[in-house]
Amino acid sequence: MNKRETKMSKCVFCGKNATKTNREGQPVCKDHKDKEPKDVGCPECGMPMKIREGRYGYFWGCEGYPQCDKTYPVEALTDEDED
Ligand SMILES: [Zn+2]
Ligand SMILES: [Zn+2]
Repeated sequence: MNKRETKMSKCVFCGKNATKTNREGQPVCKDHKDKEPKDVGCPECGMPMKIREGRYGYFWGCEGYPQCDKTYPVEALTDEDED
């Protein structure tokens, strides 16, 4: 077995092993393959938050960067509520 460690292997929503990527190319588990990041406004400045990839994995980053450098863990702003 080739044990290759990659940060692409975790679901951006729940942190479980990802088996797919969603429309945005983000790794997702089978439970979340059709789930899209919902529109999240920055609690600090109101600009949209986007899921970004950083050196330690995925996180929410504020569109207002660099004026606003708020970031949040993916789980912090992604809940399971259906509208
Ligand atoms: Zn998941
Ligand atoms: Zn912001």
